[in-house]
Amino acid sequence: MGGTTFSFSATTLEASSLDGVLGQSLQKVGPEDATSWTWLAYDQLNEAFLESQDLNTTGVVLIESSSKAQRRPYHQQKLGVLLANQRHFALELQARGRPVLYLITKASYAEVLSEVSKTTGPLHCFHHAERELRKELEPLMESGLLVEHEHPGWLTPQSWFIESVGTEPPFRMDAFYRKVRQQTGWMMENGKPVGGKYSFDAENRFPWKGDPPAPAPPVYDADAIDREVEAMIRAHYGEHPGSVDLSAQPTSAEQVEQALHFALDCLPNFGTYEDAMSEKSRGLFHSRLATLVNLHRLMPRRLVEAALGSPAPINSVEGFVRQMIWREYVRHIHEVTDGFRTLEVKRTPSRRGAGWEGFGALEDDEPHPNHLLQTNPLPEAFWGKTSGMRCLDASVESVMEDGWTHHIPRLMVLSNIANLLDVHPRELTDWFHAGFIDAYDWVVEPNVFGMGTFALGTAMMTKPYVAGSAYINRMSDHCKTCQFHHKKTCPMTRLYWAYLNRHREAFAGNHRMAIALKNVARRADEEKALDRVAFHHVRDTLLAGQEVRPTTDGDLRAWS
Ligand SMILES: Cc1cc2nc3c(=O)[nH]c(=O)nc-3n(C[C@H](O)[C@H](O)[C@H](O)COP(=O)(O)OP(=O)(O)OC[C@H]3O[C@@H](n4cnc5c(N)ncnc54)[C@H](O)[C@@H]3O)c2cc1C
Ligand code: SF4
Repeated sequence: MGGTTFSFSATTLEASSLDGVLGQSLQKVGPEDATSWTWLAYDQLNEAFLESQDLNTTGVVLIESSSKAQRRPYHQQKLGVLLANQRHFALELQARGRPVLYLITKASYAEVLSEVSKTTGPLHCFHHAERELRKELEPLMESGLLVEHEHPGWLTPQSWFIESVGTEPPFRMDAFYRKVRQQTGWMMENGKPVGGKYSFDAENRFPWKGDPPAPAPPVYDADAIDREVEAMIRAHYGEHPGSVDLSAQPTSAEQVEQALHFALDCLPNFGTYEDAMSEKSRGLFHSRLATLVNLHRLMPRRLVEAALGSPAPINSVEGFVRQMIWREYVRHIHEVTDGFRTLEVKRTPSRRGAGWEGFGALEDDEPHPNHLLQTNPLPEAFWGKTSGMRCLDASVESVMEDGWTHHIPRLMVLSNIANLLDVHPRELTDWFHAGFIDAYDWVVEPNVFGMGTFALGTAMMTKPYVAGSAYINRMSDHCKTCQFHHKKTCPMTRLYWAYLNRHREAFAGNHRMAIALKNVARRADEEKALDRVAFHHVRDTLLAGQEVRPTTDGDLRAWS
């Protein structure tokens, strides 16, 4: 590269100078080094974006904006994974001869892009998955400074969703899933599902007792780029939750391949133990690929094709492909409802930032979906203060240490307990958004508002996912080391009954809830009173930041 280099007003961009390993590795580029320039957002880290539009001679703009990183108390590992992948991607593009303009700035994306486009002319970009980013960029799109192209990373067009599900609730996955299988021909033979049925879910609900052995999660060689990102995160975002360790996450193209191999090795046992939880193996046979897929370091199509071509049993392959179609499903719901803003549902305002100390960056007056009108704050136990309930504490430990748990702790422990305690769904969503390395608004909001809680009513799910201790004891080993006895002293089942009783009017008329409501109505008044005692005690104790402890003789009246 040669000739004039880009120069920007330091006051406009408040740009940090690029030094260190990254700065030394990146070549200086100027506007004339490419025939056009394309901005790839932080979650579009794949050259396939450019190939989809024949942008073969385009230069690429990549931006690190601390104003984005400071919007939420993002887990340090999430910031690390994202930035290290983006930096590696920049160097990989450069090694293939592509001019790369890499900017590190305190300004917003919109501010940086309008400054850059003064020199380059209109920038190409691709439809953004995150609503937050789409909103920020609207003025630039309207003024023509950004020229938007279709996002090539999705597996399904919106028309398939609309044809099978519609644009109005209730939205149901099953219709969309069948449509996708039929349209793509994935696991189909002569128009019929291979194996005679669309779903093998009934074969995928086994607990894991240690056999077959679960693989250790991969360890990656962190290089100088990774170490530099780690040091930067510690220096600038050290007050964010968790810590950063890039030997636990893939960041380079080579490591992305390593991560894919790991996932394919896990696939044969993925289906059978998909719902199991264990403290001996947090990930069991889950792929751990959501982060890479959401960043598009790994294109979803490649992953699905790899799963379809694997010799794993059909219950695993079908289960895995279905999860990837779930991903499409939640993304379509997010788009057609403008992030639920067009849905008619009860709403209430909420504290933002999920109570992480010092974070008020996202304060708003906007009311958020809240069908059951749940308004309790999130207990500090979700940020790592021990609750005394092993299932919750073990799941939170994973979040604080790894920024990750697999699906079932998210659904059946973390969301379940928050639900049973009537935590505001927006606070819980904010917590998931900040705490998980794979969280982005388009995916975390439908999963928490729509599935983890019942904040959207029946718009996405027919009934809430709530359960007592029997489920957790059956599917995990948490109860074995818990100070509570899962049958005798554990408060979970009472919390479950108390929840059903409190919200019985909201569930009236929902035939999927009829049996549960009948059962709760049959409970003796004395039992119902103890259910309420358990709810008040657990809620108040956790909200006071204290541990819940069993009563000495198991009699819950001591809690009243
Ligand atoms: C309350 C709650 C919050 C969640 N928040 C997120 C989130 O912020 N980001 C996110 O990517 N997923 C989220 N999920 C979905 C799912 O839990 C994660 O995608 C999965 O656990 C990631 O681990 P994995 O990569 O090992 O996935 P695997 O279990 O190996 O699944 C394979 C792939 O399927 C996709 N997938 C599976 N389930 C879903 C789903 N429900 N929605 C979207 N994609 C899915 C992911 O890309 C994943 O990598 C959430 C689920 C719940 C219940
Ligand atoms: S006994 Fe109850 S609180 Fe303890 S781990 Fe089991 S379900 Fe959770």
